[in-house]
Amino acid sequence: MEVIRAKRAGACYGVQRALDMAAEVIEAGGRAYTLGPLIHNPQVVDELAARGAAAVASVEDIPAAARTDAAAADGAPAVVIRSHGVTPEVLAAVEERGFSVVDATCPHVSRAQAAAAELAREGCRVVVLGEAGHPEVEGLTAWARQAGGKVDVVAGPGEIPAGLYDPVGVVAQTTQRKENLEAVVAALREQGLDPIVKNTICSATRQRQEAAADLAAAVDAMVVIGGRNSSNTTRLAEVCALTCPRTFHIESVDELNATAFAGCRRIGVTAGASTPENQIASVEAFLKTL
Ligand code: SF4
Repeated sequence: MEVIRAKRAGACYGVQRALDMAAEVIEAGGRAYTLGPLIHNPQVVDELAARGAAAVASVEDIPAAARTDAAAADGAPAVVIRSHGVTPEVLAAVEERGFSVVDATCPHVSRAQAAAAELAREGCRVVVLGEAGHPEVEGLTAWARQAGGKVDVVAGPGEIPAGLYDPVGVVAQTTQRKENLEAVVAALREQGLDPIVKNTICSATRQRQEAAADLAAAVDAMVVIGGRNSSNTTRLAEVCALTCPRTFHIESVDELNATAFAGCRRIGVTAGASTPENQIASVEAFLKTL
């Protein structure tokens, strides 16, 4: 079987960096906790927990013994901040409790946080374009509020509140589509406003979707690897299914069976931004045996 990987697939820069930073702590013999799952990939999260980096929902959920160690600064465990970033309050809570901070916030997200805070400091009402409740959006909102700004989170132009007045600034969750940002800016201009726009969109998501769409149109079946709880992987599968009806969204190679590919000559493979290289390689190896 011919197996072709999409030109862009798998862990993005920010996710790979977070994984590498967590691995470095573990390999140095330290204990670590991640605030929330480090990435949206259950197999990787389980593997990290088995190696000594358990995911906790909040700093308060870190076991009491570890907190005692941190208070005594005696072999204080590390708390790894994931690529989505956190609010300044969460960062302060981790530091106050004496944990060592391993800040794996993606540099693109850090830039978006800084842009939100800068707009707020300049006196702007800050419009955050993003998914309400998403940890990255909560972080952007909190960094702007800490800098004294009033913030509105909108998912698109239809959610812009009435009655805004200049100065207004716009910042976007890094995974937003450019078209959505443009639509929001256009809607603000239609209200007579002159928004200051910080384009904080990262191209990794779009590059993966475009590469997946190109490949899906040229193969008999597509395999999309990544957590079912990963929205970017789910979106990749949707994009592929538009032109390739035999698209399979899987979390691991164990879910594949040969009969699903009967009659295929070429199979395309892509993976979400939270899928590490070893998972992609094992799927490719299996498909090549067909
Ligand atoms: S998608 Fe972009 S912003 Fe998000 S973690 Fe990956 S590289 Fe960073």
